[in-house]
Amino acid sequence: MKELKQIAPLPQPQQRQRSYSYSPYHRAAEYVGIVSFFVLLGLMGHEAYAALTTTMTAQAWWILGGGILGGVLAADFVSGLFHFLADNFGNEELPILGPNVIHPFREHHVDPKAMTKHDFVETNGNNCLICVPVLIAFYTLLPLQANVWMVLFATFWVSLNLGVFMTNQIHKWAHIDDPPAWVASLQAWHLVLRPDHHEVHHTPPHKSYYCITTGWLNAPLAAIHFFPLLEKFLRRWTPIARIDEPRRRRAAQ
Ligand SMILES: [Zn+2]
Ligand SMILES: [Zn+2]
Repeated sequence: MKELKQIAPLPQPQQRQRSYSYSPYHRAAEYVGIVSFFVLLGLMGHEAYAALTTTMTAQAWWILGGGILGGVLAADFVSGLFHFLADNFGNEELPILGPNVIHPFREHHVDPKAMTKHDFVETNGNNCLICVPVLIAFYTLLPLQANVWMVLFATFWVSLNLGVFMTNQIHKWAHIDDPPAWVASLQAWHLVLRPDHHEVHHTPPHKSYYCITTGWLNAPLAAIHFFPLLEKFLRRWTPIARIDEPRRRRAAQ
């Protein structure tokens, strides 16, 4: 008699969580990442502030306002782009990116409250580790000069990185049932991601409203079908979809 092939049960979220353990080495790296991030950002911020208050006081307000606003918008866009890529491409077995970026985003759809149990270091360490190499490159390759555009760029850059740093924290706040009053005020004033706004992304099939810093860009990007068009473009014209192939082949076996 032909033997029936046993189908292994799908792993439960809790079991899958354990396969990506949060090791003491990872936590130590996150501590180093957070400290390095603030040292580098402090150096850049200090140079930009010195240039604003000594050589370009007349333009200081528009440089400050334009740089901060541009940085916040860019951080919201970057959060949406990373989130979109992690939700739709690659698999959780990819080295480094799989357990640290793709797994948390996908697990978050299954268990949205899990991230609320993470402390400050676990919540924010990964984003610092991503930002630090980019900050070092910009700080060493683009030394700040006392000209308006460079100072505007430095202000934008500091604001963008602070926005990226805050993204996971803001996202976590959007999932806390009873956030501190000052956080609830920021959410009510639309300065950070609102829980009701973010709920749109948590409604299956999780294909819109990817931006999770302020969420300001979600409606405009949805109106122009940005992410569906980007997904079509990437699948049609780039090899990015091929990184899913090993998982698909194994699933078909
Ligand atoms: Zn998602
Ligand atoms: Zn969420």
